[in-house]
Amino acid sequence: MGNNTASLTERTAEVHQYVLTIDSHADTPLRFIHDNYNFCDRHQVETDGSCVDVPRMREGHLDAIFLAAFISQRERSPEGYRWARERVLTLIDRTLFQVNQCSTMASFATSPDDIFESVKTNKHAVLLGVENGFAIGRDLEMIRELSRLGVSYMTLCHTKNNDICDSSTDPEGPEHGGLSEYGRRVVKELNRTGIMIDVSHVSDQSFYDVVEESRAPVIASHSCVRALCDHPRNMNDLMIETLADAGGVIQVCLLSAYVKTLPGNPDRQKALEDLRKSYGEYGEMSETLKRQYHQDRLEIDRTFPPRRATVSDLVDHIDHIVDLVGIDYVGIGSDFDGGGGLADCRDVRQLSNITRELLKRGYSDRDIQKLWGENLLRVFRQARHVASERFYTSLEFEYDRR
Ligand SMILES: [Zn+2]
Repeated sequence: MGNNTASLTERTAEVHQYVLTIDSHADTPLRFIHDNYNFCDRHQVETDGSCVDVPRMREGHLDAIFLAAFISQRERSPEGYRWARERVLTLIDRTLFQVNQCSTMASFATSPDDIFESVKTNKHAVLLGVENGFAIGRDLEMIRELSRLGVSYMTLCHTKNNDICDSSTDPEGPEHGGLSEYGRRVVKELNRTGIMIDVSHVSDQSFYDVVEESRAPVIASHSCVRALCDHPRNMNDLMIETLADAGGVIQVCLLSAYVKTLPGNPDRQKALEDLRKSYGEYGEMSETLKRQYHQDRLEIDRTFPPRRATVSDLVDHIDHIVDLVGIDYVGIGSDFDGGGGLADCRDVRQLSNITRELLKRGYSDRDIQKLWGENLLRVFRQARHVASERFYTSLEFEYDRR
């Protein structure tokens, strides 16, 4: 028994270092804006809640990560769109700045080849996503701008409906009945520019519409399985089959509430609500106040420890997808720094615990290789391939700019 454990630990270290590991979704750029945060410094999840930085990517052998420029949704008005545009460009600037600062250990990547180049030079690849198509407002030309800046994927919406499509979680329910007319043009333009389309957060109907409309396979950068955890953010079996049929990939997410429904803890809930009420909007706090807030937040965690799903629960989702459609359509998108984190995988250092569980369950090295990156790279290449074919249909992609 002891020997088996020792050999599993060794195998895990060996396989996890050897395979190309890619995490398709983390919200770390929010820290680049709010905090005096340096991506080259080592942080600690236990003291400041931070999950990702380059030193810990090194320690956890994570080769590449997609950092999402996350745009919260505001009013869909000219002012709202202006704010979103400004915000997304700032988040991208800050991310590029942070990556440049750690140029000895990290490099900015915009393509599958860049990722390999980065790994060859012993660096960690950082790629860009944009989370929430609200970032482009009603301006299709923003997609070109994002493409020029090196954005690799765009999540079409967040928790609310936007001009592009319905969200899975808008309290008002569907507005367009799926993808809007404008959304169809957005999909075309994303295909044309080679930006991958991310269907995490979109409503079920939006998902089906997008898959039908898109010439390239799509990704769900951070979504789980609804059959195992009944949440509208998760994908049902028919959606997973449809995604796989189109050659796409579902990247399972480490956000506990999407992994497993656990009994609530009313005392903790109340303490968190009181904390939010007494501090107000996080973005509006001074740095001193934010530090105090984090201390109080950690105190709540000590008094009422959060219940979190485990890596084993997460791998149940992977098993389910593999049983349903095979090994070629699944990957991992942590959602670190955006709520992601499991009891035994709280930050990027601990990602090898997933590899360990996969080995324990009999997944082969080849399976693990596909799951940790190859499947996503296939979709990424395909998206670029579709973009390279664009010239034959330039008229089709003409859009109304009035
Ligand atoms: Zn998200």
